[in-house]
Amino acid sequence: MTFARAAPTDDADGAIRSIVIVGGGTAGWISAAILARALTGTGTRITLVESADIGIVGVGEATIPPFIDMLQFLDIKLPDFIRHTEATLKLAIRFDQWNGPGTSYWHPFGTFGTGIGRRPFHHALLHDRAHGGQGGVDRYNLCAHLCEADQAFSPERPPPGARFALHLDAVLMARYLRRYAETLGVARIEATVRGAARRGDGTVASIALTDGRTLPADLFIDASGFAGVLIERELKTGYVDWRAHLPCDRALAVPTPRAATLPPYTVAHAMRAGWRWRIPLQHRCGNGYVYSSAHQSDDAACADLQTALGTDAQPRQLRFVPGRRNRAWVGNCVAVGLASGFLEPLESTSIHLIVAGVFNLLDHFPDRRFDPALAASYNAELALELERIRDFLILHYALTTRRDSAFWADMAQAPLPDSLAERIALYADAGTIRPYPREMFTEASWFYVLDGMGLTPRRTDPLLSAIDPARLRAMLAQISHDTLAGRAQALPHCALFPLRAVAIPG
Ligand SMILES: Cc1cc2nc3c(=O)[nH]c(=O)nc-3n(C[C@H](O)[C@H](O)[C@H](O)COP(=O)(O)OP(=O)(O)OC[C@H]3O[C@@H](n4cnc5c(N)ncnc54)[C@H](O)[C@@H]3O)c2cc1C
Repeated sequence: MTFARAAPTDDADGAIRSIVIVGGGTAGWISAAILARALTGTGTRITLVESADIGIVGVGEATIPPFIDMLQFLDIKLPDFIRHTEATLKLAIRFDQWNGPGTSYWHPFGTFGTGIGRRPFHHALLHDRAHGGQGGVDRYNLCAHLCEADQAFSPERPPPGARFALHLDAVLMARYLRRYAETLGVARIEATVRGAARRGDGTVASIALTDGRTLPADLFIDASGFAGVLIERELKTGYVDWRAHLPCDRALAVPTPRAATLPPYTVAHAMRAGWRWRIPLQHRCGNGYVYSSAHQSDDAACADLQTALGTDAQPRQLRFVPGRRNRAWVGNCVAVGLASGFLEPLESTSIHLIVAGVFNLLDHFPDRRFDPALAASYNAELALELERIRDFLILHYALTTRRDSAFWADMAQAPLPDSLAERIALYADAGTIRPYPREMFTEASWFYVLDGMGLTPRRTDPLLSAIDPARLRAMLAQISHDTLAGRAQALPHCALFPLRAVAIPG
C-alpha cells in the first residue's frame, strides 16, 4: 500500500497538492469522483480512507434531477450507471395522507405550465379555479401525469418539459463511484482514523490511523458520516439542533421484494409519528419509517412499519439529530454528507447537498493559505441553503389538518421559523411565492406543497383579472395540451426495467 504525501511546503505557487478524504460512503466517493475529475492534470493527489470496521449508512436511495447533471459532469454513461446501481427512474414524490385519510398530492419534476403575462403559471391555475376550474397539477406537469399511469420514458431521450432523477442502491453506487475514482488515480486506504495532528495555526497537518501510520495532506474532506471524525471530534465546530422544528430523529429501514408494478416515483406516506418511504428499485423495494422518538417508542414504530408493509422482517434502526454543523469548513477541513449535518430525507436533499457542496468547494477552491474569506463565504451559503430546505420540510407538516395523534397535533401547532411564517402569509394573501436566489426548491415546488396541503389564497392575482375567465380557460386547455404532448414518448416504467429473479439482501 502506498501513501499520498503532502507536497513540500516551499512549493512556490502554494497550490493544493494533496487531498485526503475520510470516509467511503456516498459522500466520500462522490467527493472523490468529482474532485478527481475536476483536478485531472493538476497533479493533485487524492487519497480516500475508509474503515472496514465502520459501515456506511447506505440507505440514501432517492435523488433529485441535478444528480443527472453530476453524472454528465463525470462523463458517466447513464445506461451503464443505471445497470450497475439497479436504478429506476424517479419523476416525482407522492405525498399520501399528509392532510388526513384519502389525501394525496404530487411534487413532480419538470416544467409546470407556462407563465401568462409574466405571471408564474400557478396564478393562472388558481384564478381559473376561483372561476370554477377543476385543474389539477397532473394536467400541467408531464411527470405527474405519467406517474398517475406508472409510465416513464427513455432516460436518454426525455420529452420536452420532463425532468427525472434516479432511485438507486446506495451501496452499489458507492462501489461504482469507487471504481470510477480509482480509475482516475484516487488512492484508497482501508484503515480507521483515530486522531489528527494540528499545525500551530490549528489547521490539520495529518491524520493518525489505528495501524500506527500517519497521513499528511494540504486539504482534508471529512466524509465520515454522523461521527464527524475531523469536523467535530477534532475541530469541535458544534451543531445547530433543529429538533424543535423537525422532531423526527429515528428511522427504521427494511427492504421488500420488488412488486410487479414499478411506480416511477417515491411515496412518502404519513404515519402515526412521522412518515414512511417507498423507493422502488430494479431488484428490490426500499422502505423505511422516519419517526419522532418523543412521540412513539421504537417497538411501536417497528410494529407500525411491519404492519404497513405486511412483513415480519426486522428493520435496521438509524438515529440522527436533524440540524447542521455550525461551520462545515474549518481551516483546511471541509465536511460533506452526514458529517456536515442532516435533515430528514423527505425531499431527498442529502445526496444533492453532497454534490452541491463539492461543486461549491470547487467554486471556492483554496490554495495552501486557506484564506478565511473562502470558508466564510462557503459556510454562509451552506447555512442559508440548509435553512431554506429546513423551512420547505417544515411546510409539509405545518399546514396539516390532522389531529389524530400527538405527533400530528404537535406538528400543526408548533411555532414556525419567521422565514417560513412570512412565506406562508405571502402565499395565503394572493398566491405570491418569492424564491430566493440560488434556492434549491423552485416556485413550482413551493406551490405543489402549499396547494397539496390545501391552502387556498384569499384572493387571486389581481393582474390576471383583466383576462376574461373563458379565455383563460381556453389558454389553460392549450397549455395542458402542449404539456401532455410528451405522452407520445411514454413507456410503462416496468417495461424499461423488466422483473428479474433476484435475491433480496437480508
Ligand atoms: C434514514 C435515512 C434515509 C435517507 N434517505 C435518503 C434519500 O432518500 N436521499 C438522499 O439524498 N439522502 C438520503 N439519506 C442521506 C444519505 O444516506 C446520506 O447523505 C449519504 O448516505 C451520505 O452518507 P455519508 O457518506 O456522509 O456517511 P456514511 O454512509 O455513514 O459513511 C461514512 C464513512 O466514513 C467512514 N468512517 C467513519 N468513521 C471513520 C473513521 N474513524 N476512520 C475511517 N473511516 C471512518 C465509514 O467507514 C464510512 O465509509 C438518508 C439518510 C438516512 C439516515
